[in-house]
Amino acid sequence: MKAAVLTEYNQIEWKEVKKPTCKAGEVLIQVSYACICGSDQHIHKGEFHPRTHTPMIMGHEFTGVIVEVGNKVSGFETGEKVAPDPIIWCGECPACKIGQYPACTNLKLIGVDSDGGFAQYISLPPSMLYKVPPAIPDQHAALIEVLSIGFHAKNKAGVRKGDVLAIWGSGKVGLSILEAIRTVTNETVFMIDILHKRLSVGPEYYENVIPVNATKENPVDRILRETEGRGVDIAFEAVGHAHVIENVVNPVRGCVQSIRGAGTVCVLGLGNEPAPLVFKELIWKEGRIVTSRVSHGEFAETIDHLTKGTLKPEALITRTLPASKAQEAFELLDASPEDNLKILLDFGHS
Ligand SMILES: [Zn+2]
Ligand SMILES: [Zn+2]
Repeated sequence: MKAAVLTEYNQIEWKEVKKPTCKAGEVLIQVSYACICGSDQHIHKGEFHPRTHTPMIMGHEFTGVIVEVGNKVSGFETGEKVAPDPIIWCGECPACKIGQYPACTNLKLIGVDSDGGFAQYISLPPSMLYKVPPAIPDQHAALIEVLSIGFHAKNKAGVRKGDVLAIWGSGKVGLSILEAIRTVTNETVFMIDILHKRLSVGPEYYENVIPVNATKENPVDRILRETEGRGVDIAFEAVGHAHVIENVVNPVRGCVQSIRGAGTVCVLGLGNEPAPLVFKELIWKEGRIVTSRVSHGEFAETIDHLTKGTLKPEALITRTLPASKAQEAFELLDASPEDNLKILLDFGHS
């Protein structure tokens, strides 16, 4: 089979590799589409080293069809479309023991810690698989993982009908949150970013979305003005950088400043640098900060909404390329983040 192999950091080659055998307790999946994640961009550059190594096959957001069922597998058949939840938890650490798997101390992902879905075939245990109804297009099924991250954040933050919200960061994660929260509340959502094109996506697909360009105005002032000083019920932080632009509050503190009394901040952005807070601003509101990592069974909720047609996955897809052009796809994402949200890799016609 062929795979998009990261032969060395910054270099992907579309090359022949050994096709995985379908072991007992596993099913063999023929991959149709995969998405490139922000984490993949970091892995590509070597920024996950030494957690990752080369050569390796990335890819943790993908879908495909079962082409072979191994011994001792029941409940799955060839021809079924599936989306793998790429998370592998240990089941033994304190977080796992209370069922909070995204917080697993030893959390691993296929496509990061082991070879993933940027290949024509992958063999996986059925415990990682969610069945996808045939009516959901393959391109949309490839987005189930990233949409689930939005649903997990919605659930961790406890979004309720009637909530007014702010989403700091209008990239792939921010837009996934928008998709998820729109299944619950139709009230105003402020979407904050510094890239004009990204800010245009939310209002294009959903009503009641107010784009706020943080290079042009202070997002906290705008939110307080539009809500008559009240603030939002929940603010999501999906930026991941503390210092985005000079003289603008860091996004985590901005979230704290923009919530109402007894409001919630949900932080998902994976930043490496400290994001200073003035705790008085949080304490006076008795505000709550929760965090959200990956997802926890929200694949089912996402598939349910995709089936009902209540999501707009096309909002996230900016381009589809044959998998043989994976290197070009990564270069495009690096060169023009404003023009690209999700790039899909097509494994069916490479
Ligand atoms: Zn990802
Ligand atoms: Zn664990």
